[in-house]
Amino acid sequence: MIDFSCTNENFRNDLMELIRAFEQRTDETLSLCVGYVVRKGELKVELRSDKFDNFVKFRAFPFAPADDMEAKRLMKRYLKIAIYDTLVFLTGVELPYGCLTGIRPTKLYAELGEGAHDVFKKDFFVRQEKLELIERIVDAQRGKRNPDPERVADLFVFIPFCPTRCAYCSFVSMPVDRQRKLLRPYTDCLLQEISYLKKTAKKLGYTFRAVYIGGGTPTALPLDMLDEVLSAAAVRGVKEFTVEAGRPDTITPEALELLKKRGVKRISVNPQTFNDATLERIGRRHTSADVERAYALAQKAGFDVNMDLIAMLPGESAEDFFRSVDRAAELAPANVTVHTLYLKKGSALRVEGYKSTENATAERMVDYACRKLTEAGYEPYYMYRQKYTSGNLENVGYALPGKACLYNMDIMEEDTTVFAAGAAAISKKVTPAVNLIERCANYKEPLEYVKHFDTVMAKQKAFWGV
Ligand code: SF4
Repeated sequence: MIDFSCTNENFRNDLMELIRAFEQRTDETLSLCVGYVVRKGELKVELRSDKFDNFVKFRAFPFAPADDMEAKRLMKRYLKIAIYDTLVFLTGVELPYGCLTGIRPTKLYAELGEGAHDVFKKDFFVRQEKLELIERIVDAQRGKRNPDPERVADLFVFIPFCPTRCAYCSFVSMPVDRQRKLLRPYTDCLLQEISYLKKTAKKLGYTFRAVYIGGGTPTALPLDMLDEVLSAAAVRGVKEFTVEAGRPDTITPEALELLKKRGVKRISVNPQTFNDATLERIGRRHTSADVERAYALAQKAGFDVNMDLIAMLPGESAEDFFRSVDRAAELAPANVTVHTLYLKKGSALRVEGYKSTENATAERMVDYACRKLTEAGYEPYYMYRQKYTSGNLENVGYALPGKACLYNMDIMEEDTTVFAAGAAAISKKVTPAVNLIERCANYKEPLEYVKHFDTVMAKQKAFWGV
C-alpha cells in the first residue's frame, strides 16, 4: 500500500492511477508525499517517503507553457515522471507502460509527432516491446483514419440487453428475460432517436462511414424488434455496418439471415475463452462448441467476424489462455480482440473480492497473443488501456489484412464525430480545426432513458443545435 499525498489535490485522481499501478505489483507499505513549485522557468518537485530513513529527492523540469491548459498538462506529465522514477527506486518495480497512464496511448503518440518515440522511451519509460506495439498500431492505421472529420461521421446504437450477465461485466446490460416489458418502449425510443440523429447528420452535412450496433448483445432482442432497429440504423452505401452479436447463444440462422438482409457486414462471435469450465465460472450460458457452431454459421453467411478473448479470467492458467489464442488463430476470423481482464465497480467478480495479482502471467498471456496472432498474419490495429486492468496492461484489436474495423479506430483515436443513440450512449462532436471534442451523454440506465426520453431528445437537440 502506498500512502500518497500531493500538494495539489486537483491532480490527485490522475496521479493515483499511477500509484495504483505500482500497488498492483508490490506488497510494500510506504508513504509518498509530493510537492512542487514553479520558479524561474522551472517546475521543481520534491518527493519524500518514510522508506530508507526518510528518503528525499528533488527534481527540476524546464517549464515554459504557452497557456493555462498546457501548464496543467505539463505539470501532470512532470509529476508523473518524478513519481515514477522515485517509485521505481523505492519499490524496485517497473511498469510495462512506465509512467504513461490514460486510455489512448496511440492517440498521444500520434499527437506528439516526430519526437514521440523519444518522449515515450526516455520521458515516459515505456518498455521497448510496448513501444514497438504502439508504433506498429500507429503505422497500421495510416490510410485508414477518417479522411474528412468535418464531414464524415459514425452512427452508434446501444442495445443494453444480454442473455445473462457475465461475472466480469461492468457495462450497462440487463438479462433480457427479466426485462421483457422494457423491450418495446426501449425500442420505440431508440427508433425515434436514431431517426432524429440521421436527419440531423444530414442537415449538418455529414455522411456516415460506419454504423455500429453495440451492446450488450443486440441479437438478444426479439428478432422483430432487432429488425426495426437495423432498418432504422441502416445507411445506404456505408463502408462498414457492424452488429456486436457477441454471445453465440443468440446467433441463430434466422438472426444471421436478418442481419444479412439488412446489410450488416461485420459481427462479433465472442468466445472470451475456449475453456468450458471457465465459461461456466464467468456466467456465460454457452460452451466453446456453441462458439464454433455460431462462427461456422457466420462464416458460411459471409460475415467478417470479430472474436473477443480475455486474458486473466478467473481460474485460468497461462496455458489455458494460450490454447484459446491458438484456437482463435486456427479458426482465422477477420478480427481477434485480446482484452486483459479489468474489473470495474459493478462487476460480480469485483463484488466477490476477486483480485488478479499475477502480473507476470498477464504479461505472458498478452505477449503470447501478440506473437501468435502476428505470426498467423494478423496486424495489431487499435489499442486502449483501462484503469483496473490486470497487470496495468492493454487491450488490442488484431485484424487480417484489409479487415481493420473503422469504427474501433475512430473511437479510440477520437478524430470522428459520433451520433450515438440509446441508453449510456455518448454522442461526440469533433472539431479538428480547433482541436475540440464535445460530448453529450444519455441516461445510463435503460429504464431512466425510457422514462426521461423527452429530456434525452431535448439534450440531443441542444447539443447538435438542430
Ligand atoms: S455479453 Fe458483454 S455486455 Fe453482456 S453481460 Fe457479458 S460482458 Fe456484459
